[in-house]
Parts: sequence; structure tokens; C-alpha cells
Amino acid sequence: MKHPVLRRDIIAAVRSFAGLGLGVGTAGNVSVRAPGGVLITPSGVPYSELRPADIVQLNPAGEVISGRLAPSSEWRFHCDILARRNDVGAIVHAHSAFATAIACTRRDIPAFHYMIAVAGGDSIRCAPYATFGTAALSQHALSALRGRQACLLANHGQIALGSNLTAALAMAQEVEELSRQYWLSKQLRRPVLLAGREMKLVLEKFKNYGRRPVQKRR
Ligand code: 13P
Ligand code: ZN
Repeated sequence: MKHPVLRRDIIAAVRSFAGLGLGVGTAGNVSVRAPGGVLITPSGVPYSELRPADIVQLNPAGEVISGRLAPSSEWRFHCDILARRNDVGAIVHAHSAFATAIACTRRDIPAFHYMIAVAGGDSIRCAPYATFGTAALSQHALSALRGRQACLLANHGQIALGSNLTAALAMAQEVEELSRQYWLSKQLRRPVLLAGREMKLVLEKFKNYGRRPVQKRR
């Protein structure tokens, strides 16, 4: 069995979904770029039952290279995103409650908070509805993810990207938390949105935000 560590990482990631507020049951799926293709969760297997050998290996075209079980029904958008986006090493798809609730309104999450910029733009787009597992859903997801690290899927859930699995999981959590904050704010009144100018500034600041060596002041 190839890539035992990555397989274990994928299982740990999906098992962490419930604790991170990313969903329950077998909703959602995870993939990671691996030498020669993609490792992806199998379809419809409870996360507690998953064993490393159950993780399916696909070639970049989405054909099964190894594994006894059928790959996630969403193998198509996982493979299409990994093929198109060199910056992406892992993908988390979740039916987390607040992101899904907003996705059911078929609206983007606007710049109600500056942290919307973590997903790479001044909104988190909501991809139009298409049946799960279809090429149409994959096309919609690819468009909504253009230049972004996350999107909502209408009447479905969210997709979060990362250079690795830890980053993709963190992005999915961030999308869920922003969705919760947006929903909360909307209970009070219509949130005041940040202007495009301000979001440009925030996006610029995000280019070198986060852990880095201290810069000595002169
Ligand atoms: P799978 O169990 O086939 O991955 O399906 C779950 C899902 O979220 C479909 O959109
Ligand atoms: Zn789904």
C-alpha cells in the first residue's frame, strides 16, 4: 500500500470533522495530491470505520489506480481542482451547518468582515446548484474558486482548499466560522459591508500577514 502516512492523515482529517463543527455522518470528503495522482476518501463509509487501505488512489484523470471501494461521489471536482490549481495540495468538502444554511440562500458571503479576505477575495462566492457528483457541479465549483481558496455550493455545502491538508482543514473551519458570524449579524440587522477600497487594502496586508520573522524597527 502506497502513501501510508498520507492515508492516515486523511482519516484523521475526516474524523476531526464533527469536533471542528464541519458536519456529521458521512457527509463531506477529503482528497490530497500524491505522487502519480490523488488520494481520496471512499464513498459513503462512516469515518470511524475507515482504514488506510480504504482510501482510494486515483490517477489525475480520476480513474481508480488502487483500492477496493468506490471513490467519493465528488471525485470529479476533487480531480478537476487539483488538475487546474498547482497551488492546491489538499481539498476539504463539508456540509458544515452555517456554510450550508447560507449556501441554501444561493448568495455569496459579502465583505461583512475583513476576514473574508482569508479566502482570497472580497467575497466567498456561492457556486450555482448542480446535482452532487456531476461534471456540471465541478464546472460551477471551478468558476467559483477562481482566485479563491474556498466557495459555497448552492443547496449543498462548502469546498475549502489548501497547500496541504492542515491548511485546507483550517480554511474549512474559517469558512464555517465566517458563515456563523454572518448569520448572527444578519439576525440583528443587515450587516454594514466593507467598501471595495478597504477590502483591497486588507487583501494587500494579507500578503504578508501571519507567522514570520520579526522586522526590527530602525
Ligand atoms: P461521498 O460519501 O460519496 O463522498 O459523498 C458525500 C458528499 O458530500 C457528496 O456531496
Ligand atoms: Zn457534499
